[in-house]
Amino acid sequence: MYDVVIVGGGPAGCAAGLYAARAGLRTLVLTGGEPGGQLGIAETVENYPGTGALSGPELAADMRQDAEKAGAEFRDERAAEVCLRERRAETGRGACRGRTLIFAAGAAPRRLGIPGEESLRGRGVSWCAACDGAFFKGKDVVVVGGGSSAAAEALTLSRLCRRVYLVHRRDSLRAERRLTEELERTENVTFLWNAQAEAILGTEMVTGLAYRELSSDQRRELPCAGVFIAAGREPSTELVRGQLELDAGGYIPADETTRTAIPGVFAAGDVRAKAVRQVVTAVADGAVAALMAAKYLEA
Ligand code: NAP
Repeated sequence: MYDVVIVGGGPAGCAAGLYAARAGLRTLVLTGGEPGGQLGIAETVENYPGTGALSGPELAADMRQDAEKAGAEFRDERAAEVCLRERRAETGRGACRGRTLIFAAGAAPRRLGIPGEESLRGRGVSWCAACDGAFFKGKDVVVVGGGSSAAAEALTLSRLCRRVYLVHRRDSLRAERRLTEELERTENVTFLWNAQAEAILGTEMVTGLAYRELSSDQRRELPCAGVFIAAGREPSTELVRGQLELDAGGYIPADETTRTAIPGVFAAGDVRAKAVRQVVTAVADGAVAALMAAKYLEA
């Protein structure tokens, strides 16, 4: 029996682990097996104060190390089932029980739900240019999406690939202005506006993208070696669905204390309903959740 079981090993989970251990709580962090969560796939992080520009994996490793040094136990296991009322998480290797539970499972890339997306995953379909871009050196690739992630992915790929096609269902991006301007200055980036991705083509490997040109309602095919999907993120809250009320986007309603409707259960980081999701806000949530858990145990 732990004082606190933390589900998630991203910035929120690591910060919760650090604060909980420093508060003298017997602390377990289940990382889910993907080191650092979304931070683990960020090329550089330039907006986490006090660190300069660090790679995402470096920052993630430092966060974990700090929590471990403070005494938090980390297990690289994925929670396959969570019972919030019992503050219990089941991994393939058994049950972990806490007197409190901090749910910090983060978010995952949104799927487009089109043919080829899952079957060609790892065979030309990717959600991470920093991780997989090098496989497409000198080749033509497609990025699907129109936000800051799509713009950042396209910029990363433009430095490696022959040509990057940015396929977006609207006629303009809603990315940060800095990214949009840089992208517009990049010669080997071509924008395909009003284009809805319909299928990723290929049998063994990706050979192209089929999309619908919305202005003419024509289906077209664009040959490419890789398709990078950057269509936003969705909260990883499937494990708690039915146990807590979720908002329309699937996020867990909890105020800035991170307390949920279940006593002794806290929601921290990108799973929580809030206005801004950044590394720095996830870390803040983690710290708050751990201190609230400590307070709950004192009562
Ligand atoms: P986002 O802002 O939600 O953008 C998602 C994009 O994907 C939108 O353009 C959306 O189209 C499109 N999309 C969603 N579902 C789709 C579908 N089924 N088919 C085709 N397109 C689809 O998400 P994000 O770009 O991942 O950004 C998330 C947050 O991270 C933002 O706050 C962003 O500022 C931040 N971020 C910052 C940086 C940086 O370098 N500073 C980099 C990455 C992310 P519509 O426009 O039509 O809705």
